[in-house]
Amino acid sequence: MRHTYRVRKRKVAILGASGTVGQRFISLLAGHPWFEISALTTSDAKAGKRYGDVTQWHFSADMPESVAGMKLEATRAEVDAEICFSALPSDAAAQWEAALAKAGHHVFSNVKTHREDPDVPLIIAEVNPEHAAALDVQRKKRDWSGSIVTNGNCSAITFTLAAAPLHRAFGIERAIVTTMQAVSGAGYPGVPSLDAIDNVVPYIGEEEEKLERETKKFLGAWDGKEFRDAEIAFSAHCNRVPVRDGHSETVSLALRGDPSLAEVADAMRTFRGKPQELRLPTAPACPVIVREERDRPQPIRDRDAGRGMSVVVGRVREDPVLGYKYVVLGHNTIRGAAGASILNAELLAAEGRI
Ligand code: NAP
Repeated sequence: MRHTYRVRKRKVAILGASGTVGQRFISLLAGHPWFEISALTTSDAKAGKRYGDVTQWHFSADMPESVAGMKLEATRAEVDAEICFSALPSDAAAQWEAALAKAGHHVFSNVKTHREDPDVPLIIAEVNPEHAAALDVQRKKRDWSGSIVTNGNCSAITFTLAAAPLHRAFGIERAIVTTMQAVSGAGYPGVPSLDAIDNVVPYIGEEEEKLERETKKFLGAWDGKEFRDAEIAFSAHCNRVPVRDGHSETVSLALRGDPSLAEVADAMRTFRGKPQELRLPTAPACPVIVREERDRPQPIRDRDAGRGMSVVVGRVREDPVLGYKYVVLGHNTIRGAAGASILNAELLAAEGRI
């Protein structure tokens, strides 16, 4: 069934446009039917320069000509855009995101700064769109005409998108996840090559804490006044590995109700959410793809599934300790960052919340 909703074209700004996530926003927004890039912001030092002159472009496809000639602006509370996609470093986000929302802009942020605020929704569009109702409280309490919506940390989004159908169908009691995270997750230039190549770094600052806390917020509830975390015993190990893009995660979990492996795989495979129902422009047809081959998913083969917006699960099998285990892979700068923000903005625009 095709849904009918009217969405007007809106101007959007990319805050932190020259970085890894900022560039991903630019590549994903090229030709977007609803959103048109009207401003690109940078640190004060590069303000006034042409984007194409000062940006080390990361992708093999050329930088879109429409942005190459745009003048970079310093980040300020006023910008010529209704929607601001934030890919700022966390200190700049602390300085500007709330100020932009107060000035009437709708901020969709990739940054940790406001993710745990009690009135800021942390949303994966397929998983917890109902958390957007917190914006009513946010605007009233803070006297904002704009808003802040956050998407999660890249490893938390990847884990949660595959786990949400299991939590919904059966209930997750306990989970252990071990990540193998790509170097692009650390931004540019990120991890020095001499630390990354031929190596595994078994520590990513704050990552395990973020993965644990954000998963519980995503899978929890908004009760009209506050967020209530999902009650899951959760443990994460996070590692940096020499992969360019795509976070892999091995997951073991205990589920309620003793489902069969086929039922577990089926719950993930058939999972759909509002973005699919509404056929939003950035929605993948299938948010969780389950593969049967014994050696998938792999970053170089599977990270671009669903234009980078699907997570790919494989090796669903019994775990002798917790009951079930599998591998999940997600593209960290698309599903885990810029694509997730754009999908949240599309959802809220289609629903008339912004
Ligand atoms: P990055 O590659 O280091 O880019 C950050 C950019 O912000 C830099 O290019 C810097 O460039 C710019 N910047 C610094 N101060 C600024 C200011 N005041 N206003 C505007 N721009 C400013 O980092 P990233 O990986 O893109 O990450 C951006 C944010 O997204 C971070 O908070 C990160 O934690 C989060 N995130 C990243 C990923 C990922 O996979 N990489 C995933 C999820 C979330 P100039 O000095 O040239 O302006």
